[in-house]
Amino acid sequence: MKRIAVVGGGISGLTAAFALEKQRQAGAPLEYVVFESSRRLGGVLLTEQVDGCQIEAGPDSFLTEKPWASDLCREIGLEEQLVGSNDADRKTYIVVKNKLIVIPDGLMFMVPTKIMPTVFSSLFSLRTKLRMAREWFLPPAPGGEDETVASLVERHYGAEMVDRLADPLLSGVYGGAASQLSVRAVLPRFAEMEAKHGSLGRGMISARRGLPRVAGGGARPLFTSLSGGMQQMADGLATRIAPASIHFGSPVESLHRKADRWSIRSGTEENFFDAVILAAPAVAAGQILKAASSSLASELSGIQYTSSVTVNLGYGREIRAALPPGFGFLVPRSEGTRMLACTFVHNKFPHRAPKDKGILRCFLGGARDEAVLGLNDGEILGTVHRELRDIVKLDASPIFGRVYRWREAMAQYEPGHIQRVAAIEKRVAQIPGLALAGNAYHGIGVPDCIRAGMEAANTVAQLTPESQPLRR
Ligand SMILES: Cc1cc2nc3c(=O)[nH]c(=O)nc-3n(C[C@H](O)[C@H](O)[C@H](O)COP(=O)(O)OP(=O)(O)OC[C@H]3O[C@@H](n4cnc5c(N)ncnc54)[C@H](O)[C@@H]3O)c2cc1C
Repeated sequence: MKRIAVVGGGISGLTAAFALEKQRQAGAPLEYVVFESSRRLGGVLLTEQVDGCQIEAGPDSFLTEKPWASDLCREIGLEEQLVGSNDADRKTYIVVKNKLIVIPDGLMFMVPTKIMPTVFSSLFSLRTKLRMAREWFLPPAPGGEDETVASLVERHYGAEMVDRLADPLLSGVYGGAASQLSVRAVLPRFAEMEAKHGSLGRGMISARRGLPRVAGGGARPLFTSLSGGMQQMADGLATRIAPASIHFGSPVESLHRKADRWSIRSGTEENFFDAVILAAPAVAAGQILKAASSSLASELSGIQYTSSVTVNLGYGREIRAALPPGFGFLVPRSEGTRMLACTFVHNKFPHRAPKDKGILRCFLGGARDEAVLGLNDGEILGTVHRELRDIVKLDASPIFGRVYRWREAMAQYEPGHIQRVAAIEKRVAQIPGLALAGNAYHGIGVPDCIRAGMEAANTVAQLTPESQPLRR
């Protein structure tokens, strides 16, 4: 009987455990244990009910175009619970000098693909619009070194585009700064388009698929969530995993090879396994692996993380009339606020608030404001209230406010990330019975973590013919 340990009970680890359970039920001679340091499963997936409102403390949805999360939900019987975002109301604003300016139609992740809406938009200065026109004629520029997103976007469209779009969009997704994130790892299609077409605008028109659109319509909703909240996914997986195989309150401290097996230390206990899936954040995985492989541990510890704070505020019905239509707004760094973004939850996912209430979800922290995690709830709520008053002239007092802190939860894909991950994976492949999963390697979103969890399980259990091949 093969014994497999899964370290971490977030969505990555739970998916891995579920994939192992499927193999076990299909007759594979294996058993598994999930070690989770906290008292709950789901990691950053956390949904709460407050005053009839559904509050998402961590992720609120996932990108529909990445199939692994929806596929998994269908497989565990949650198909009926899948809910698309209300894209009829899909407008996103950028804050410029304390005013909301809508992102013009046709802008695909900061690349303009429609001329007129961009020409008439007050989001960009004349200088940036002229850069956009010139960008159209750039010749192909094959293969340079990896660089930051800020550097690539600035070369094509100038610094204003970095400040007003690239940076706010990336701080929303990665909690990171455009000046620190790798183009090859975060926006690989931009590097490909530049190599092939030169102009990103022409490249985008020729590709016309794949990249998430931040404005404009589309057949499928851009985002998908669950009617009972994102935690439903973790809860659904938990019911399919043998309860006895989950060890709560069991932080894994170290891993050692002993006589061809893995010794896992958690508290005073030592357990032995044939294989281990490390589905904890890379920082933790590095600590755990220090004794087993110091070189691997140091590569893992080299992956940086940022922390974030989400604030959910519930209001009475007046909020709906007080705000413009749309999904919410992003705040460029140059505005000098602590708030990075704000979602109008009752517009994006109407089922989350009763008709007589509204919910705002604000993001703070990220690469440039780790200090916000040191403030107490009152200070954070006061900051958000003040900034909402300045930006959307909202003076109403919330019925409730909830603050959630996520320390070192968002992996940062810095330039060189792809080579670093290749080196990590090469080293892991040389160590028998070890696999990694989580948001630090091949994608930070929930669907990517699900795919990573499945792949890790298949690797350590050695793919059986009955196993479902993954869609790529
Ligand atoms: C605020 C926020 C908003 C986000 N929004 C979105 C979104 O809208 N859409 C989207 O697709 N993605 C979003 N993401 C990203 C996505 O949610 C995460 O990347 C993903 O959920 C990470 O899952 P995970 O299981 O890899 O890690 P985690 O959820 O961090 O889980 C890791 C688990 O490992 C446990 N652990 C750690 N160390 C040990 C140890 N030594 N021993 C045992 N257990 C350990 C932890 O307690 C935790 O339960 C968001 C992330 C955050 C923080």
